[in-house]
Formats: sequence, C-alpha cells, structure tokens
Amino acid sequence: MKYTSTRGDQSPKRFCDILLEGLAPDGGLYLPEAYPQVSDATLTEWRRVYHDDGYAALAFEVLSLYIDDIPAADLRALCEKTYTEAIFGTGEIVPLRHVEDDLWLEALSNGPTLAFKDMAMQLLGNLFEYELGRRGEQLNILGATSGDTGSAAEYAMRGKQGVRVFMTSPHGRMSAFQQAQMFSLMDDNIHNIAIEGVFDDCQDIVKAVSNDLDFKRRYKIGTVNSINWARLLAQVVYYFAGYIQATEPSTPTLGAEAPALPPEGAPTTLGRPGGGLVNTQKVSFTVPSGNFGNVCAGHVARMMGLPIAQLVVATNENDVLDEFFRTGVYRVRGSADTHETSSPSMDISKASNFERFVFDLLGRDAARTADLFGPQLAQTGRFDLSADPAFAQAASRYGFASGKSTHADRLATIRDVFERHGMMIDTHTADGVKVAREHLQPGVPMVVLETALPIKFADTIVEALGQQPERPPKFEGIEALPKRVVVMPADVAQVKAFVVEKCQ
Ligand SMILES: *Cc1c(COP(=O)(O)O)cnc(C)c1O
Repeated sequence: MKYTSTRGDQSPKRFCDILLEGLAPDGGLYLPEAYPQVSDATLTEWRRVYHDDGYAALAFEVLSLYIDDIPAADLRALCEKTYTEAIFGTGEIVPLRHVEDDLWLEALSNGPTLAFKDMAMQLLGNLFEYELGRRGEQLNILGATSGDTGSAAEYAMRGKQGVRVFMTSPHGRMSAFQQAQMFSLMDDNIHNIAIEGVFDDCQDIVKAVSNDLDFKRRYKIGTVNSINWARLLAQVVYYFAGYIQATEPSTPTLGAEAPALPPEGAPTTLGRPGGGLVNTQKVSFTVPSGNFGNVCAGHVARMMGLPIAQLVVATNENDVLDEFFRTGVYRVRGSADTHETSSPSMDISKASNFERFVFDLLGRDAARTADLFGPQLAQTGRFDLSADPAFAQAASRYGFASGKSTHADRLATIRDVFERHGMMIDTHTADGVKVAREHLQPGVPMVVLETALPIKFADTIVEALGQQPERPPKFEGIEALPKRVVVMPADVAQVKAFVVEKCQ
C-alpha cells in the first residue's frame, strides 16, 4: 500500500513513513493510492471475526489492508494490546445502545479520557512506541489543546518508550475536570505547560516552534493532530463494528431500558443467519463534527464498500461544514467569527481534514485541490463549488448530508433524551442526535457516534437537567489529586528552553 498527497506529491510513501509525519512535504494530506475493496463475503467474515474474536481482531483485519510494513503478528499484537476491556470498559469496546425507533448510539467514549479520541490515540501511542523502538529514535510531541485532544494524547503516550509529550493549554481556561485529568498525570515523560493566554496563543507557540526547522530537527519535534493518517485509519474500524451491530437480529443490550430487538414493525434485517444476501441492509451514521476527522473515517469506510446510506455531518454554531454541504461554498472563519459554544470540541474556524474529502470529490484532481486549499483559501478565505457538477455528487454519490445544532437545541435534546429514555448524553452527542432525527429514512438504522461522556461538560448538563452528570467511579475525586503543571507566559523562547531542559 502506497500513500499519496492530496496536492500531488509523487514520492511514494508507506504507512510507517507517514506515521510519524504530519503534512506531506507539499502541504497536502496523505491518502492511500486506492481504497481496498471489501466484498460481501469479506464483510460476512468480519462479522464473524467481531463476534468470535472481538474488536481487536476486527481492527487487525481493517488495518492490515493499509499497513504492509509491520509484520502481521506484530500488528495483531499491537491491536490486542490497545483494544482491551481494561482500557475501554467493555468487552465489545464500542457497544451500540438503542435510543428510539431506528435511532442508535455507538458508544465510543469509554476509554481513559471519556472521549472518542481515545479510540485512535491509544493505538497511535502503541504504534509510535513500536516504530520508534524499531528505528532507535526518539520523538518529542508538542501540542496545543483546549481539552480533549491533549488529554487523549497524554493518556496514550504516558510511560511509552522513546516519546515525550509537551502539551500547552490556556491557563485556567479548561474545565476543572479536564485540568484534573491532564495535570494529575505523574509520568516522567508527560509535561503540562499552562500558558498565560488563550488557546490561539498556545497554537501560535506550537507553530513557531515547528517552523524553526533547525530546532525541530535537533529536538525531534512531532505532533499528533487530527490530520495524522493513522488516527483516521483507526477510526475506520468502528464504522464496521457499528454497521455489524446495527444489522444484527438482536443487538447486545446495554442499559436495562434498552430493548434487545428493534421495535415491532421495524423492517427486518437481511443480515440474519439464513437470510440470503448478508449485507444488503444499509446503515446511516450521524457524526458530531469539527475538523472532519471522524466523519472522514466514515467516508473511507464507505469508499471501501461498507453499505452506508448517509453520512450526516452535525455541526454546532460553527457551521463551516454545514454551510458547505448545503451551498457548495467553503468559507473559513476568522477568530472573531468563531463562536465559543457549549460543544467546545467542535469550535473550529476551518476543518483541517476536509481536504481529503474534496480531493476524492474532485475525482482526485491534485492540481485543483492544491489550488483550492492553497492560493484560493489564502487569498479569499473561501472557495465555491456550487456550480461544479462534482458538488451534487457529495450527496448523490458520497452519501453526505448535514445539519446544525445550537445551544438551545443542545439543551432541549439532552433534556428530551433524558426524560424519555433515561439516558444522559453529552453536548456534542446531543448535536448529533438533534441532526440525526432530521435525516431519518424509513427502515435504515441511524447510528449517532457518541463522542464524549456528559461528565466532561458538566456545566451544560446541569443547565439542561438541573443535576450533575454521572461520574464513572475511577474519576471520583480527581480534582483533589496533586497536579503536575508549569505555568508560563506566552513566550516561544521559554517553551523551547523547557523542552531543551527536559531532553537533557
Ligand atoms: C474532537 C471532537 C469532536 C470533533 O471531531 P472531528 O474529528 O474533529 O470532526 C467532536 N466531539 C468531541 C467530544 C470531540 O472531542
């Protein structure tokens, strides 16, 4: 399997070449030269694998189609080490919960930091340790976070050989729970840097350090941001697992209130044993989206042949993506135009993974993609595909649809799902449920990806329900734990000096 850049760089790369890299040298994003195709027979076999051997075995099947420079036995061992009940809370790893009628939730947030980013980041930690060990190299991961990404990265990299993490965050601006999650880590290789400033200051520092190529090379500075192909690939797996569960005659039940079977009168699933064609049933997914990483993994799964009807992109008030799928205009926002919302992990001004989809949409025209995401966006802050026949295919050929949810929608949805079904959902997942309900199609199961647990966004839950969210037992009292963090002004030189000191 060779990888290519969305902007046309021709030097062929293999998986481990791009694992530790961010952008391609031409500024584009990596994608496989072609998507491996999964036949009906293979999907049937994967159904058996998931049931008999578990999620880790399914992950190995999917990953091995894209990774041919890690011996199969090693890759399998890495998957088995990653996707365990001890780390993800259940043996099924990503259980499906029934909400109502055709609406389901896929639980992706039971990992160490209670957000879906653990699904990919935990694997990335093991892949990094493996590959760095093989090369005898070290890596210093420098990042900026306002919450979910940083904690997922730290929990994935803690104690890993050859890796240090330097995570900047805006001092005093994360929730008490998020600060406690990150700052209570005592591992020697994890360094929290609270910057006296806002999130943008943190990002600017990371950019300034990465742009100092001499420093970057000398101190092996790397990142783990959402454009990393390995992260995206790890996320493809749970679309298959979600599909398999949603097309079962009886879905493994979770809450006591969840019925084991779809409601009376629901169209039957053809996936039942003895039902002839096995995988003709289509399933739709709704994905709370920010940087378009999660839903891009759904696009990859669909391109591999997974029978997905719709991929519904749900945004919050920061509706860059909803605007594109409605109008064909992609318009990045300035910081004054980027709202702080109660689903903060989707507060984006541009969607950093979106280029991957546009590349496919334009028939993999790298020159055009390079022009749109290079000069066009730099000069005008927007591009317009509304008159291009390709735009209509976003829906007709690629299954995309979209919708938007506001603070009021979020509160109403959290309240409604709690009152009617006794389920507490987080603010991002609520955006997903709100938009999913607007895109239901008769007889097509709709799976909403649950991207975080409510405890991470307790203030809004209290606002919606007048009560505190449930807290998983292992997080009892974490706010009181000792904290390991250094506070620094927004000064690049001081951050660099700190990195140098820790590398001695
Ligand atoms: C990161 C994140 C998102 C957005 O995911 P993308 O891959 O950036 O689209 C949504 N919800 C939560 C809770 C997140 O942490």
